[in-house]
Amino acid sequence: MPTYKAPVDDALFLLNDVFHFERYGNLPGFADASPDIVEAVLREAGKFSEEVVAPLNRIGDTEGCTRKADGSVATPTGFKDAYRQMVEGGWIGISVPAEFGGQGLPATMTSIVNEFLCSANVSFAMYPGLTQGAIAALLAHASPELQAKYLPKMTEGTWTGTMNLTEPHCGTDLGLLRTKAVKQADGSYKITGTKIFISAGEHDLAENIIHLVLARIEGAPAGTHGISLFIVPKIMVGDDGALGARNGVSCGSLEEKMGIHGNATCVMNYDGATGWLIGEENRGLNAMFVMMNEARLGVGIQGLALSEVAYQNAAIYAKERLQGRAISGVKYPDKPADPIVVHPDVRRALMTIRAINEGGRALVIWASLQGDVARRSGNDKERQSADDHMGLLTPVIKGVLTDLGFANTVMAQQVYGGHGYIAEQGMEQFVRDARIPMIYEGANGIQALDLVGRKICKDGGRALMAFLGEVGAYVKDKSANEKMKPYVTPLGVAAGHLQQASMWFMQNAMAKPDNAGAGAYDYMHMFGLVALGYMWARIAEAALPKADRDATMKNKLITGRFFMERMLPETAAHLARIQAGADSMMAMADDAF
Ligand SMILES: Cc1cc2nc3c(=O)[nH]c(=O)nc-3n(C[C@H](O)[C@H](O)[C@H](O)COP(=O)(O)OP(=O)(O)OC[C@H]3O[C@@H](n4cnc5c(N)ncnc54)[C@H](O)[C@@H]3O)c2cc1C
Repeated sequence: MPTYKAPVDDALFLLNDVFHFERYGNLPGFADASPDIVEAVLREAGKFSEEVVAPLNRIGDTEGCTRKADGSVATPTGFKDAYRQMVEGGWIGISVPAEFGGQGLPATMTSIVNEFLCSANVSFAMYPGLTQGAIAALLAHASPELQAKYLPKMTEGTWTGTMNLTEPHCGTDLGLLRTKAVKQADGSYKITGTKIFISAGEHDLAENIIHLVLARIEGAPAGTHGISLFIVPKIMVGDDGALGARNGVSCGSLEEKMGIHGNATCVMNYDGATGWLIGEENRGLNAMFVMMNEARLGVGIQGLALSEVAYQNAAIYAKERLQGRAISGVKYPDKPADPIVVHPDVRRALMTIRAINEGGRALVIWASLQGDVARRSGNDKERQSADDHMGLLTPVIKGVLTDLGFANTVMAQQVYGGHGYIAEQGMEQFVRDARIPMIYEGANGIQALDLVGRKICKDGGRALMAFLGEVGAYVKDKSANEKMKPYVTPLGVAAGHLQQASMWFMQNAMAKPDNAGAGAYDYMHMFGLVALGYMWARIAEAALPKADRDATMKNKLITGRFFMERMLPETAAHLARIQAGADSMMAMADDAF
């Protein structure tokens, strides 16, 4: 059975020493997040994840969810009780404004707590995670009446949320969607259609499920400009907040799938279900983007979380498993063989995963802090700049941390040799569970296109220039410091590659858009490497003064050097591929495939 220890100390180091959390004290809600409160909340979240949620991970995988004849869905044994404890602990609403029953704490804390929960049991964590995404969309776009009616119960967790975009014939291309909405005399709408692959669409954890549904109002234009967003409760809610009759929405079936068996993936049938418009007519995608952006960050966190728990177990195994002798000479003469952790190739795997996890955690916290500033700052310029950063980093975090997260679970499984392939060890579950984050919330190829096609050229490239400017200024500022040179010199080279690639797109993609499409995936990964490199330089800066007397900080410097020497240079290969353009990729006729 795998084990899990929440990396609370690492999160605290990042918040306090790397990102100087106290400097954000002027933002609403941050004053309540004093260092001792932050530490107490994170330690408690770590304990809850380790002791209550993690032990249910394997049960969730083997039992899965079950749909009964009446259309209800039972979650795996133990999920209900753990969810009840989650509600009692107030975990779902820690960052929701106090007026709706939340604690108003920084969303950055929710990101950290979600990492712990997803490492412990990603299927379980998706139920509250989707609710948090739905809450964000309602906060941004719902009317005060709808907010008052739904948000307090969702914040509490008594009601959960879902996100209904996908239909059988459309996933990426939502402009094709057919679910229909017909306006009623009382201002509500009747929603009819079929949604597929809806996570947490039906379950037994909460007394009501609040679906956010994309549909097309009768007579609306075709394509994405004719889509509206609706709130559709499973059970109708009276004006006094009391639950009434069942609405016309039901779970038609559950999908059999590769991983995340503990999370119910549902076909949802809307048969004239009553819904209410959120935001403006035909602006539904815009409103849903709030939830999608929250969810993309959340899915990136899933990649990181699975990589972290896989690493922890592989590291323990590598110190226990005895095979062969170190090539530099026997290291453990009292044992029949050396533990496999002495072998460079096993270290290659462990160091690679570790470098991504520690850098990735920093990237998630940095982006989440930008999200907090974008939502909470009273200063327009500050808000805009933070929003720019967030917009740029969201597809990178989603695409890169989930690709690397999956690759890392495979690498961690490899450390176990044949034992990694055996279900009892739990490593193959991590691999299966880590596969879906690369696909849902917009497949990773779509994240890359979002970055290249939309984000880097938006507002005349303002966000990209600000990011490159920040990294460039940091490199320049630290270059004179001998101890920082091993970190900032390679970072400067990699940032130069990113700049060259961006220029290449400007010069070669306007006339030939396939050049952008062909290079987008490499660009996203190159961006991810530069962002991780920047994080590692900042981690090194915070670790340097303490490294002489603190082994953890010394190990940070070693891991940071490994990243700079062995991982960051991959930006050169990405640049070469981008500059090769689309010709060989697009040359063959479609029917030659
Ligand atoms: C377990 C699970 C849970 C899910 N949960 C939810 C949920 O809660 N709510 C919800 O609404 N949906 C959910 N989904 C659906 C998921 O978001 C979609 O499957 C995903 O967005 C991809 O859509 P698709 O499957 O239709 O693939 P398609 O859109 O058919 O894409 C197929 C492939 O073609 C590529 N592609 C498509 N268009 C382009 C293009 N223009 N340029 C380049 N490449 C392109 C894609 O990257 C992809 O690799 C879930 C799916 C699964 C499997």
